[in-house]
Amino acid sequence: MESAAWPAEFVARMTGWLGEASDAFLTALARRDVGVRLNPLRGELEQLRARLPWNVAPVPWCPEGLWLQEEEAPVGTHPYHTAGVYYIQDPTAMAAGVLLDPQPGEWVLDLAAAPGGKATHLAARMENQGVLIANEVNRRRTSVLAMNLERLGVTHAMIFNETPERLAARWSGLFDAVLVDAPCSGEGTFCRDSAAVRDWSLATVQGNAHRQRGIMEQAALLVRPGGRLLYGTCTFAPEEDEGVIAAFLDTHADFELAPLPALPGLQGGHPEWIGAPEAVRGVGRFWPHTGPGHGHFYALLRRRGEPGDNLPERWRGTAIPGRILQLYRPVLRETLTFEPPEAGLYLDENDDIYVTPLDPKLWAGLHVLRPGWWIASQRHGKVTPNHALAMALHPEDAQEVCDLAVADPLVEQFLRGSFWEDDGPAGFVLVTVDGFPLGWAKRGDGRLRSRYPLHLRR
Ligand code: SAM
Repeated sequence: MESAAWPAEFVARMTGWLGEASDAFLTALARRDVGVRLNPLRGELEQLRARLPWNVAPVPWCPEGLWLQEEEAPVGTHPYHTAGVYYIQDPTAMAAGVLLDPQPGEWVLDLAAAPGGKATHLAARMENQGVLIANEVNRRRTSVLAMNLERLGVTHAMIFNETPERLAARWSGLFDAVLVDAPCSGEGTFCRDSAAVRDWSLATVQGNAHRQRGIMEQAALLVRPGGRLLYGTCTFAPEEDEGVIAAFLDTHADFELAPLPALPGLQGGHPEWIGAPEAVRGVGRFWPHTGPGHGHFYALLRRRGEPGDNLPERWRGTAIPGRILQLYRPVLRETLTFEPPEAGLYLDENDDIYVTPLDPKLWAGLHVLRPGWWIASQRHGKVTPNHALAMALHPEDAQEVCDLAVADPLVEQFLRGSFWEDDGPAGFVLVTVDGFPLGWAKRGDGRLRSRYPLHLRR
């Protein structure tokens, strides 16, 4: 949407605050930069980048980040997107994963995770090790979150559909790192989100600030002593940015504002815009007129203290009946080149089999959409491998692989759920595009039939 259609009060506020820079800001905010973040779970960054068929430039603050230097590149429909080689994301949103800096083995919570841009970034940086809880309060948004985590090959995440209050009541002080990518007035998305433009008013800004303070109250409870809490918005409204952080610090003496790394393009805050304390200048802002992307606000908070020595460990038990294990083992042994996982196996009420990182006692009673990595399902006495299993595999992990070149018309046929002639041994076959996973096919009777999930088919 063009800047002429933006709310006059928004334009007036920003012009007053930014002065001479406001023309450059308003022009840049109307730009439609497209970023793609490479997925290191798929391979070395340099090699992945070399495979992309588009002209791209690096995002200066994110090693995985690129932004397109050409218009109309079909990044959303390319088979590499389907194969989880990258995630389409605004360049300034890519800074969340850099600033929170989650480590392999940590316990990390993304409290407002859908559609999964930041959660998939956190997961990749954790190298699929530790525990990632991706929570989304809006039920309708959880399925796209699941699709994205699965598409990118994430195996250590659980997806919850909960309120921050209910999570905080159960998991007090549990997490090394918590991300609050807060619902906000979305001024940074004005060029592509007409609803954000339509809904904008000073009252909406105030309402968002109120809601954000409530979410941060709960988020604080979830952070362990010594842990980190990253707050982010895609708006410039200081009431929702510096204002929320000032109020938080005022009422949480056990937290301090942590210094941000000197990332290129990252500027300090503007407490003077709303009469907030000078200390809040230590927050970070990315602007659309000083680099790629639409702009983002971040504040990194650290909870004082040291972690106790009673942090829970990743669960290694099993919660699956022996009769299902007897069905599961042979099918997965025939399909995989490694021993099928048994530590953390969990069978849900639909007879779907997951590898879960958390002891089920820790989440009993909470609304869970994916209790872990969904690897197989049991139906009518038969176990079949799940799509999410395929999406976390490399070609050497599967007994049988059908690798297609990206230009091969069979790629489209596979994604449409079709079949083709193939005489190899019967059983499940991992279909890949240039070595990146697309899903399962089943071979038998001289044919290879796509098992690409119905809800994802083209
Ligand atoms: N982190 C996501 C990503 O990178 O793809 C984007 C998150 S979006 C900016 C904010 C999310 O907060 C929305 O999915 C929205 O449903 C959720 N939300 C709305 N109200 C909330 C509340 N009261 N508590 C927690 N989350 C809320």
